[in-house]
Amino acid sequence: MKRDGDLSTLTDGKLYRSSDMARLGCNDCEGCSACCKGMGNSVVLDPYDVWRLTRGVGVTFSEMVGKQVMLSVVDGLILPSLNMENQTGACPFLNGEGRCSIHAFRPGICRLFPLGRYYHDGGFSYVLMTGECKKENRSKIKIDKWLGETNLKAYEKFILQWKEILEETRKLLGETTDLETQKQISVSLLQKYYLAPCESDFLTEFGGRE
Ligand code: SF4
Ligand code: SF4
Repeated sequence: MKRDGDLSTLTDGKLYRSSDMARLGCNDCEGCSACCKGMGNSVVLDPYDVWRLTRGVGVTFSEMVGKQVMLSVVDGLILPSLNMENQTGACPFLNGEGRCSIHAFRPGICRLFPLGRYYHDGGFSYVLMTGECKKENRSKIKIDKWLGETNLKAYEKFILQWKEILEETRKLLGETTDLETQKQISVSLLQKYYLAPCESDFLTEFGGRE
């Protein structure tokens, strides 16, 4: 994300809090599935996404890898993302009617879109990306309602924690040129945060583990 002065080229130039209203309402995406296709490996999943997804779909993370989820290198780290179909470029969770079949537990990037996050001063603000959602005349809606997260405060805390963990891990990667060590660092991240079972409430448990 570009710095403050450049925000207007990608966004409407405003910084939003979760209690603010923004032009997000797209009539429940009726008749449109544009942002569920051609996304490559850009719908990267964080551990909370995977926790929600595995519980919602009823399969383990390992069972999803190679099917609905792919592993790829994202800025040096092996991370999971939605595995878009080769032929159509469509999300594996897009159903025949052009609707999201996992709406209630879709990944954070999908829940956020067309909002983005602008990190500053040890926290972040929400930004509204212009030219992303194809619907015109979008209605105003409160951001916390749009995100649909029951415990938004804990979720926002997790987002910052996870960003820090990724940054620290990438720093660790940069301290070695040994490919095997780099692979081990990346695999450890997957094992610790994606494969380690979380039986109770993820956000509470994650908040207490760092
Ligand atoms: S998970 Fe749902 S909302 Fe996200 S890209 Fe796939 S079909 Fe679209
Ligand atoms: S482009 Fe907008 S209306 Fe279309 S699927 Fe995405 S969020 Fe919904």
